[in-house]
Amino acid sequence: MPDATGPDQIFQRALTNGEIMLPRCDDCGAYHFFPRVLCPHCHGTAISWHPASGKGRVHTTTVVRQKPERGGDYNVCVVELEEGVRMMSRVEGIAPGDIVIDMAVTAFVGGAEGQPAVLFKPAEV
Ligand SMILES: [Zn+2]
Repeated sequence: MPDATGPDQIFQRALTNGEIMLPRCDDCGAYHFFPRVLCPHCHGTAISWHPASGKGRVHTTTVVRQKPERGGDYNVCVVELEEGVRMMSRVEGIAPGDIVIDMAVTAFVGGAEGQPAVLFKPAEV
């Protein structure tokens, strides 16, 4: 029986409700990701959850080539959020090759492989 109150479950449950929540350590004030029981910065255990601003910038981007009949090319990006944490995800609504490093993106809750997941789209300017 999986622990229904573990950090991964809290994160996933928020996603199911359409919310992106990030864990922050109350001892040192730093955000971290993936969710963990111990703060990776100071090993504190006073973790609280806060809604993400959704603002981020592309840190790395890779185009994954795929045949059109299998869905076509797509991108894998690491996005650094305003909170200082990095998430591996993808940016939608733009051709994979048009994504550039440091591009401003906005997080949203979308679906990936049938699961709610944090995805990104180009930020409105
Ligand atoms: Zn800490």
